[in-house]
Amino acid sequence: MVNSISILGCTGSIGRQTAAVAAHTGIRVAALTANRKIDLLEQQARRFRPDFVAVYDEAAAKQFQIAVADTDIRVGSGLEGLIEAAAMDGVDCVVTAVSGAVGLKPTLAAIDAKKRIALANKETLVCAGELVMARAKEKGAEIVPVDSEHSAIFQCLMGRGAGELHKILLTGSGGPFRGKKREELEDVTPEQAVAHPNWSMGAKISVDSSTLMNKGLEFVEAMHLFGVKPGDITVVIHPQSVIHSMVELVDGTVIAQLGVPDMGLPIQLALTYPDRMPSMFEHLDFWRLRDLSFSEPDLENFPCLRLAMDCARRGGTAPCVMSAANEVAVHKFLRRELGYNRIYDAAAAAVEAVGVSAASDLETILAADEAARAFVRENF
Ligand code: MG
Repeated sequence: MVNSISILGCTGSIGRQTAAVAAHTGIRVAALTANRKIDLLEQQARRFRPDFVAVYDEAAAKQFQIAVADTDIRVGSGLEGLIEAAAMDGVDCVVTAVSGAVGLKPTLAAIDAKKRIALANKETLVCAGELVMARAKEKGAEIVPVDSEHSAIFQCLMGRGAGELHKILLTGSGGPFRGKKREELEDVTPEQAVAHPNWSMGAKISVDSSTLMNKGLEFVEAMHLFGVKPGDITVVIHPQSVIHSMVELVDGTVIAQLGVPDMGLPIQLALTYPDRMPSMFEHLDFWRLRDLSFSEPDLENFPCLRLAMDCARRGGTAPCVMSAANEVAVHKFLRRELGYNRIYDAAAAAVEAVGVSAASDLETILAADEAARAFVRENF
């Protein structure tokens, strides 16, 4: 179990839940970072009294500095501030809950400082999986996943030797539009897309869950995190979200991890691992559980998942370009500037237009990310 944490992205959905878990477990919060929601940030800062707080937005950082002038909290800003929070002395775990590619450099800084990474930022592994995993191995930094699926796989693989794993069964609910045809989704509104049946999440990830892009990003992440090939991962649609993922071992045995669909559980485990402690969450009630059902993903009507699997096979910067293009397209959709089905069109077109190169260094990766964003901003 870790003693003290930095929460990068503390005002988002995962960040707020991490703060609640820290309060429950008594883990000290030594640093907080946020983009610009400084009212909530101030509440959290006054509650946890961290040594250091970084606000990414420079103007908001100045306001925040004034707001907490009566405390001895040190305030930083910009990417430098996030990096400082990630690499700070006296912190043994960094929860990377920022959304987007901005999480990449702070995560690498935390790895270099040999912190445990409680990984909740998808872009880190989607964009720079090879680089990040190699660096973590070299520095001996632990990466413990927070995403429920990866936490489940991580738990199913605990104590197993190399060579026992046959394949990963990555489960997903299928989102709010499961069973619909692509033509029926033409006029989907942001309100409809963010209303997820099982999970309460931020707007961007909720839209990704509805298009199955989220499952596609998780597919790429799982490859890097567990060192497997695209052919070793099967996506299984399981609408009840009770099984959070499974592994199939070489002898045909399947191990599954089950629990209530609450992100607090994988967050707590990422902080207490390798220990466990009682949580504040409900336990599964098997007498109230409905049937558990399973089906194949519908790649024809939800082409984002197919695109992500193709990009996973192509490797290099392909997943990064797809993810960055998708991020811009989803934000345009949320602002009602782009139709729902055009999210896929934008991501697929960006992969073709920007092209794919080897993701060997950070500069190449960040350039591909920016090229994809520019392409969607200009063409969609
Ligand atoms: Mg997930």
